[in-house]
Amino acid sequence: MIQGLNMDRQLLVSSLIEYAGRNHSGTEVVSTDSTGREYRTNWSEVRSRALLVSSALQSEGVNIGDRVATIAWNDHRHLETYYGITGLGAVLHTVNPRLRVQQITWIINHASDKIVFVDADFLSIAESIAPDVPSVQRWVVLSDELPSTSLDNAVAYEQWLREFEPISQWPIIDEWSAATLCYTSGTTGNPKGVMQSHRSIVLQTWATCTGDGHDVNSGQSILLAVPMFHVNGWAIPFASAMAGAKLVLPGPDLSPEALVRHIQSENVTFSAGVPTIWLSVVQHLQATNQQVPSLRRLAVGGSAAPRSLMDTLEDDYGVFVSHVWGMTEMTQGSAGRFTNRVQELPRDEQRRRQAMAGRELYGVELRLVDDKGEDVPRDGTTPGELLARGPWVAGAYFDLKDDSTHIADSEGTWLRTGDVATMDSEGYISIVDRAKDVIKSGGEWISSIELENAAVGFEKVSEAAAVGLPHDRWGERPLLFVVLEGNQELNKDEILEAMRPHVASWCLPDDILAIDEIPHTGTGKIDKKLLRERFSNHKWST
Ligand code: ADP
Repeated sequence: MIQGLNMDRQLLVSSLIEYAGRNHSGTEVVSTDSTGREYRTNWSEVRSRALLVSSALQSEGVNIGDRVATIAWNDHRHLETYYGITGLGAVLHTVNPRLRVQQITWIINHASDKIVFVDADFLSIAESIAPDVPSVQRWVVLSDELPSTSLDNAVAYEQWLREFEPISQWPIIDEWSAATLCYTSGTTGNPKGVMQSHRSIVLQTWATCTGDGHDVNSGQSILLAVPMFHVNGWAIPFASAMAGAKLVLPGPDLSPEALVRHIQSENVTFSAGVPTIWLSVVQHLQATNQQVPSLRRLAVGGSAAPRSLMDTLEDDYGVFVSHVWGMTEMTQGSAGRFTNRVQELPRDEQRRRQAMAGRELYGVELRLVDDKGEDVPRDGTTPGELLARGPWVAGAYFDLKDDSTHIADSEGTWLRTGDVATMDSEGYISIVDRAKDVIKSGGEWISSIELENAAVGFEKVSEAAAVGLPHDRWGERPLLFVVLEGNQELNKDEILEAMRPHVASWCLPDDILAIDEIPHTGTGKIDKKLLRERFSNHKWST
């Protein structure tokens, strides 16, 4: 081999904030915190304060590879911790506060987080889990002053930072070192930790900045409507630094009124998020007869975006929708931009493609296989399980022994996405079903197994099956089927009450149907596919 003669520079997350700090002190980061206060900062200040966060963590004894958690909204302090934690070489573990406290306890213990940055809004979560998470040595409340709390070892972020001098520069570490950790819901059992390396974050961020990715560039003003605790905010906190784009962080208020206000006042050109959010924004725009003239493009994904949403956004508001598919395991996995050839097709043909879940994006190789693991044709009609691989696709989960999500064959290792899809010759994918047993509501997972266990825990229910069915607002909502003991009458409220202590209230089924028998597959599993098909016309009462 004759080697290329390039410089040996590691791909590190710190290089993103270094670049932005050096060149974009004039580019704003506008943030609203959980008290509703607005802050106007810039990339240079974010860099300086992130260096301070690194210094403070170092003084707390945090070393390379140690896990540091955040339970926080999208604001400037959360952004500073993103860079301060990873810059030092520690691992940024973003925790989804919508999980049940038992699950949060489980993942913090699994990750062995040393420090937790927690928004004052989530103090009660921290207080209730603190006795059960012994690895946590410090709670840093993301506020000016420490609110009254029962937590030991708690400190207010701003007071804590004042005790330190920033580190002079970021350490150079190996690009394969872990940078972020984000847990994804297990279909059964416990959540699985997706650990991304620095190299992976930089590469996927680059892909996000390409024209076929989210086209994040320095000309954009970006509203981050994806929570930063969800798949690293789809890499947008990293991409906006790489590009030097203006970033608008809305804090906890993701109401359509607040989002429209941010778009209008900050001349937002691009935003991203799950369909549910944009459905409510469109309804609000229609009801109040407002426009969002600065907004040119939206990346919508996480669940299937209805075509009517895309049509309305484009026809009535001039916003192009890039419909993307992705997973925690790789962040963005497909691209919604039209190719040159598609741009020349009639509008209706283009819209047909737009309704699909994007096209294979360079860097995430996609493949469809049947039950026997044989490739199915890319003919746009034959479904198969979607497999993925690539330099920023998770190759394994953090500290997980029985990993059935990866398969190895003569082609190498592939991630089983659990999505059933069709793919055409141009790489357009359509998600037609889900092999994994979960329900996705408003971009958040609901475990069907958790619902079933809660239902059969009630003495009048002998068997239960939960499936996700399409819902106009939430994408999917759970429908619960029960087989009742003896010849009892169905009393939905009674079942819901019995389930309530075991399930977060937003996860409770929207409807319950009593059936005589739950269908099973040849291997004895509940035949959810059959149930979904049979009840596909179910009408939600709300
Ligand atoms: P995210 O919600 O950010 O995409 P998750 O890892 O929580 O990441 O969920 C990934 C799953 O979400 C996919 O495997 C798929 O089931 C579903 N999903 C993501 N994007 C789409 C889409 N455009 N259409 C249909 N389902 C999608």
